[in-house]
Amino acid sequence: MMNAVEKPSMTDSNVETLAPNAPEFARAPRHIPFNRPYMTGRELHYISQAHAGGHLAGDGPFTDRCHAWLEASTSAPKALLTHSCTAALEMAGLLLDIKPGDEVILPSFTFVSTANAFVLRGAVPVFVDVREDTLNIDETLVEQAITPRTKAIVPVHYAGVGCEMDALMTIAGRFGLKVVEDAAQAVMARYNGKLLGSIGHLGAYSFHETKNVICGEGGALIVNDPAYALNAEIVREKGTDRSQFFRGEVDKYTWRLPGSSFLPSELTAAFLWAQLEAATTLTSRRLERWARYHDLLEGLEQRGLLRRPIVPEYCEHNAHMYYVLLAPGIDRQLVLARLKASGVNAVFHYVPLHSSPCGQRVGRTYGELRVTEDASSRLIRLPLWIGLDDSMQDYVVSSLEDALTKG
Ligand SMILES: *Cc1c(COP(=O)(O)O)cnc(C)c1O
Repeated sequence: MMNAVEKPSMTDSNVETLAPNAPEFARAPRHIPFNRPYMTGRELHYISQAHAGGHLAGDGPFTDRCHAWLEASTSAPKALLTHSCTAALEMAGLLLDIKPGDEVILPSFTFVSTANAFVLRGAVPVFVDVREDTLNIDETLVEQAITPRTKAIVPVHYAGVGCEMDALMTIAGRFGLKVVEDAAQAVMARYNGKLLGSIGHLGAYSFHETKNVICGEGGALIVNDPAYALNAEIVREKGTDRSQFFRGEVDKYTWRLPGSSFLPSELTAAFLWAQLEAATTLTSRRLERWARYHDLLEGLEQRGLLRRPIVPEYCEHNAHMYYVLLAPGIDRQLVLARLKASGVNAVFHYVPLHSSPCGQRVGRTYGELRVTEDASSRLIRLPLWIGLDDSMQDYVVSSLEDALTKG
């Protein structure tokens, strides 16, 4: 699974962006990093306000603003900032009261946090295959994977393209299961007009540096089912009713539930506020870059060298990622090495969780994960960030063409 050239970059968060003077780039005419975090220019302004205000711990005025923004955009009864999407998913595991031996259905083609959140509670992750078009969980397989121990379904909106949420919510309703959307990549993206993250009982966002809207490390839990609203606040505040105490709803604060510290500081929230204010503009700027790749790569798709992403018409994606699936038989490792030699930092993505050492030990698969294994072996992600200009994009595409067609 591992070798020198193709190190598994299992996460958006550990993409190795080679330094401009790395040996791979020594003779490269240009260097195009995989990601470059976008700053709106307002971040330091808000951080200095937080600094001047003297409220540095979590749940101050900037956190309030972020909460209000998230609640207004998702229409959720409660949105809570966390220090990561991983933390938001772990809160979901606690809120759903997942117990040892419970089962949770999820794709294998995802980041480790999707599974860890439930494995930490003793659950068995049951991996099902993904759809060929969107690489999202195949909703037609979910029902058959349900057993009397199943507690939840955790769809992951890969690349910010929505899973088949209507079908998944219907199945969950019939079997009394909860749905937790791993919407880490899907901030600002929609399914049938609804924001992703706002459809399941709970939704989890990421504001990690590698995502679209960022604050370094950060996330949010979107509580769509009001039944979890109060407990979500408690679990996030070390299991105490501190939040209710400060609102004057209880006269002393005390330990109510098993919980942890899941909240970010005000400095992080201040940074995030600058990004949330600009979220619509920065999403459209990403979409514009994405669409340009899509046009430029049409020719290579017509020549049968690769397949471009497929976005169903009822999904409004957020241009989180531009990936291509290389045609079967093409040596991905060679293509990535050639791109690196041209100075283009393209990367592959998930090593399927069911094939990882931990996944094999604690998880189970439902059926064969043929699409997962096939797609994960052929996928490469291209540099996509705000500031990537036309000439850089042209260069990425021509380097990819050379990498695919050189003898
Ligand atoms: C990035 C990501 C996460 C983890 O987000 P953090 O904020 O880094 O914890 C979880 N799931 C998916 C699908 C992701 O892409």
